[in-house]
Amino acid sequence: MSDASVPAASDFIKDFITEDLKSGRFKEVHTRFPPEPNGWLHIGHAKAFGIDFGMAEQFGGKCNLRFDDTNPEKEDIAYVESIKRDIKWLGYDWEDREYFASDYYEYLYGLAVKLIKKGSAYVDDLSDQETREYRGTAVPDKNNITITPPGKNSPFRDRSVEENLDLFARMRAGEFGDGEKTLRAKIDMAHPNLVMRDPVMYRIRRVPHYRTGNAWCIYPMYDFQHPLSDALEGITHSLCSLEYEIHRPLYEWFIREAEVFPSRQIEFARLNITRTVLSKRWLLQLVTEKRVSGWDDPRMPTIAGMRRRGYSPEAIRDFISRIGVAKTDSFVDIQFLEHCLREDLNKRANRVMAVLKPLKLVIENWPAGKVEELEAVNNPEDPAAGTRKVPFSGELWIERDDFQEVPPPKYFRLFPGSMVRLRYGYIVTCTGFTKDPASGEITEVRCTYDAETKGGNAPDNRKVKGTIHWVSAAHAVTLEARLYDYLFLSERPMEVPEGKTWMDDLNPASLESLPNAKGEPVLANAKSGDRFQFERLGYFSVDPDSKPGKIVVNRAVSLRDTWAKIEKKNG
Ligand code: ATP
Ligand code: MG
Repeated sequence: MSDASVPAASDFIKDFITEDLKSGRFKEVHTRFPPEPNGWLHIGHAKAFGIDFGMAEQFGGKCNLRFDDTNPEKEDIAYVESIKRDIKWLGYDWEDREYFASDYYEYLYGLAVKLIKKGSAYVDDLSDQETREYRGTAVPDKNNITITPPGKNSPFRDRSVEENLDLFARMRAGEFGDGEKTLRAKIDMAHPNLVMRDPVMYRIRRVPHYRTGNAWCIYPMYDFQHPLSDALEGITHSLCSLEYEIHRPLYEWFIREAEVFPSRQIEFARLNITRTVLSKRWLLQLVTEKRVSGWDDPRMPTIAGMRRRGYSPEAIRDFISRIGVAKTDSFVDIQFLEHCLREDLNKRANRVMAVLKPLKLVIENWPAGKVEELEAVNNPEDPAAGTRKVPFSGELWIERDDFQEVPPPKYFRLFPGSMVRLRYGYIVTCTGFTKDPASGEITEVRCTYDAETKGGNAPDNRKVKGTIHWVSAAHAVTLEARLYDYLFLSERPMEVPEGKTWMDDLNPASLESLPNAKGEPVLANAKSGDRFQFERLGYFSVDPDSKPGKIVVNRAVSLRDTWAKIEKKNG
């Protein structure tokens, strides 16, 4: 296993585990990461398996990868493949410990029979709707304190063991229709915790399963299946997110009643990040409603989306290991995630020049046809990255924003009469421009260069405040640049005002495509996944949509580090 990144907030889990080892409750540590293959992994899962794999590693134990696949309607082998690929890419290795809950159907069926024989489970004929009604709901009393009035026993609750065994076998044999019968745990219909009011263990569903096909028409429920799968694998510490806390008594009940290995459930806070949603259900909706191009859309908080956007495994793991420190209310500011990405790419990404919105700059006194090779540093943070040659000629592309006919105050770039430094090149003086009389658009800017100023030197100490980037027009590679904004307009999209849904909060302008960007010739050889810093513009990664002659780049993140500013302000 590679170096796992355990969130700093997980100290309390370490304490529990240490205690369990000391008391002799467990002799070793064995965890599991249990994704349901009904969607692609997101950064919240990265936190979960950071903890699962990380805890096992810290205590010299093992971590299983178990696909929790007992819900045939939504699961698919394609999801299994994507999950495995993403965990591997992040640098975690489950070796040969790959398991599927769907392999445990026979074992689980056996334990269900055991519970029936003990009088701890019964076959019920109530419909879904009736089951809910009989269970009851939590309601506010007259002082607005939540109370849970007792539920009502099902009229089928007292069937004999023989009848239950017979009916359950016939459920399995397919004698009843979907929803006609369920198997329920016999616990307590007046229990203050609704989860404990005779929860359903099995339901009838005639839906082929992606692994077991039509072998089964009854499927175990999560609350029954999960603890017993943990027990079967000898999982000592079953680490899960906080929403399972109210299920813990049931987890323990099934383990006790089934008389199996005493796995222990421990909960940790779910990761939430501002300006995004972190649940497969919601991410799936974005995909199926085509609000994004797919699970790996670079705007998605999925591992695959982040990879395509330009995140490295290191940046994600670094974020995961630091969120304990940066966490407030268990919502992490997305700018902190971006900060981790910038720190990482600053070290690893070569610098190049590219122009997003090109405007022609003509150097009037440049010798006709002359091309000069200028030396440029690849990465000032990494001398080993070396240097490269950048062609310079009399016609360049510059950024449209770097010229103004009438400069606003403090504008140190090009305007008639101004002087700027061309990065790695010469100091030029703006001599004029051409404007399309019809549209009012500037079509060309002209300047003269000073041969004395090669490399940006200002020999006579003249003051030149602005430096702009450029690309030689004759040598430029045309790029499609995709710029991204946050997916959602508000910090917490799930907390939208009444009458609205989180979908209403989608940012309509989260993608801007610039199909005619220009880049340095080195970009012609860039491969999908390569990452660069485009000077002054941000970090970019080469998108898999790229084809020879048509490079597509994604802006991973701009250079402006708002998080660093926030940190500074907060001391
Ligand atoms: P989702 O709501 O995204 O569908 P889930 O809990 O249904 O999440 P699973 O595939 O069941 O997804 O999750 C596998 C593991 O990942 C579980 O142990 C779950 O607790 C954990 N997990 C899921 N989302 C998060 C999150 N946002 N932060 C931390 N852990 C998470
Ligand atoms: Mg789940």
